[in-house]
Amino acid sequence: DTAVELHHITMRYKAKRGRTVLALDGVSLTVPEGQFLSIVGPSGCGKSTLLKIIMGLTRQSEGEVAFGPARDHENLLGMVFQQPLLLPWRTVAKNMTISHDVGPRRPRADLDERVAEQLDMLGLRDFADQYPSELSGGMQQRVGIGRALLHDPRILLMDEPFGALDAMTRDQMGLDLLDIWERDRKTVLFVTHSIPEAVLLSDRVVVMTPRPGRIAEVIDVDLARP
Ligand code: ADP
Ligand code: ADP
Repeated sequence: DTAVELHHITMRYKAKRGRTVLALDGVSLTVPEGQFLSIVGPSGCGKSTLLKIIMGLTRQSEGEVAFGPARDHENLLGMVFQQPLLLPWRTVAKNMTISHDVGPRRPRADLDERVAEQLDMLGLRDFADQYPSELSGGMQQRVGIGRALLHDPRILLMDEPFGALDAMTRDQMGLDLLDIWERDRKTVLFVTHSIPEAVLLSDRVVVMTPRPGRIAEVIDVDLARP
């Protein structure tokens, strides 16, 4: 099955003096369910814009985003940003449930259990009642990932999730992410500046070029995974 399909996505931003920036120019892409896909390219090639359009945080100028058939009680999308975006006055556990507390959208049943399970999986069990400032950068980003995974989204969008971390933490987080992926086989769209990271983690690498943002190349990575 297909997780998401992009049909000729074009994005024009309004810039200074009435000019426009063509951030994306006719980007088309089909992502099968369960694929780990990386999007690489230099700053300004429209990687963030593409994820924001898929997430619904911004609206494309032209083109269509189509998702595969949804199942019951299922969350479609979760997103992780470069900064973990944690609220400093909330504990780790309370940061995980922000989406519950800002809207009446979902039932609270099993919530504490799910938070505990997620923290456990990310090695943060002992930090549930601590505040973000007491955690390292890598641990904070784990909380960001846990929050995105809390409702078991079908598609996980990640925009340079390890970009703010030191090299060793970054490598470790990449391996942890692979563990998560191998367990759940979620569809992952992973934006990174790092080609080695993209090749290490993904099934398929999409290379983009800037001005205007276009897909230059799509590379299938033969990982021979178990
Ligand atoms: P990155 O290269 O890591 O995506 P940027 O510094 O290019 O980070 O952009 C960060 C965010 O700021 C983008 O996601 C975008 O929404 C916003 N942004 C980037 N360029 C502009 C701009 N020229 N005007 C307004 N907002 C911008
Ligand atoms: P990337 O994530 O690959 O660095 P972005 O999606 O952030 O690229 O940006 C693509 C292009 O669109 C850049 O030229 C950037 O300056 C521009 N841009 C991004 N967000 C905005 C915005 N909100 N307003 C105006 N221009 C923007």
